[in-house]
Amino acid sequence: HYNFCSGPATLPLAVLERAQSEMLDYRGKGLSVMEMSHRSSDYMAIAEKAEADFRDLLGVPDNYSVLFMQGGAATQFSASALNLTGRGGTPNFLDTGIWSRKAMAEAERLTGAHLAGGSKSNGYTATPASDSIQLSDDAAYLHFTDNETIGGVQFDRLPEVNVPLVCDMSSSILSVPLDISRYGVIYAGAQKNIGPAGLTLVIVRNDLLEQAQDSIPSMLSWKVMAENGSMYNTPPTYAWYLAGLVFEWLKEQGGVEAMAVVNRRKAEKVYRAIDGSRLYDNPIAVGSRSIMNIPFTLKDEALNDPFLRESEAAGLLTLKGHRSVGGMRASIYNAMPEEGVDTLVDFMAAFEQRHWK
Ligand code: PLP
Repeated sequence: HYNFCSGPATLPLAVLERAQSEMLDYRGKGLSVMEMSHRSSDYMAIAEKAEADFRDLLGVPDNYSVLFMQGGAATQFSASALNLTGRGGTPNFLDTGIWSRKAMAEAERLTGAHLAGGSKSNGYTATPASDSIQLSDDAAYLHFTDNETIGGVQFDRLPEVNVPLVCDMSSSILSVPLDISRYGVIYAGAQKNIGPAGLTLVIVRNDLLEQAQDSIPSMLSWKVMAENGSMYNTPPTYAWYLAGLVFEWLKEQGGVEAMAVVNRRKAEKVYRAIDGSRLYDNPIAVGSRSIMNIPFTLKDEALNDPFLRESEAAGLLTLKGHRSVGGMRASIYNAMPEEGVDTLVDFMAAFEQRHWK
């Protein structure tokens, strides 16, 4: 079976097998990782290795902290506003779809927010050009959503502005190499390309740790988390361990550079299947198409149910699109094998042959 769920998403089988083999008794220690003190030397070794591998995979510079936090990416919607406005200034946002609007709504309630641009005017089919962005005079930072998981819209270049960039990378982190030094903050919920839901990775430039509001809850404070090695409280130990196994697996695959080659090829195969058909449609402008989440509609809505029924019978799971978009969505994160994509595009062509004259 191949699982095209947008998240929690499929994990590498090798990672699940390894976790299973170590679950009851971690390397002869006589207990599960789940049962270890987070302060024990065995667990600290697991945690530090995971961070080191993550830094290595993305080339995170030394002047950035990597935090293992809780509460999903949605918690960072409010955390980012509270962490970055203690010296005044207004969070600025690009609206490219549902997730960026959710992030902005949180800031709006907490600190106020300014809409600096977006793609409403083109029906959310293309990311905004840098020269269309209008920051507020007091912009504290510019927030954008690298990849809109629901709309299937992704930035192909960074917005060029003279304030720190804060990026929600939940559905695209670790899929292609990044120049971290161009970002102020990157955050990502784990449940697509990293590991189990709930765990949240934050990469933050250290000078930005000094700008939090005084009243910020400790659990949301990047500075508190950085000073405590992400162990201000009991961290999500097992999720952190599983993320570490995913990072090791990524390194075995050749790292993010190698994943990017495969990811681009996988996405191209699906878009070619859509564009070359008369039945399927994806409205996103070519330069803004997501390589991780590919929504598509069928020209006859009456075929949606047969498509879902038959694809599931063929072992292709969770292709139903988000309720706000309808149609289908294929999420093809790092852990989706290329054979899964090949099976999908073969199925799409055969389905069209059977049902669409
Ligand atoms: N941002 C993006 C781009 C997402 O795709 C999601 C979730 O699917 C979220 C934020 C919310 O993440 P979480 O459910 O971890 O809070």
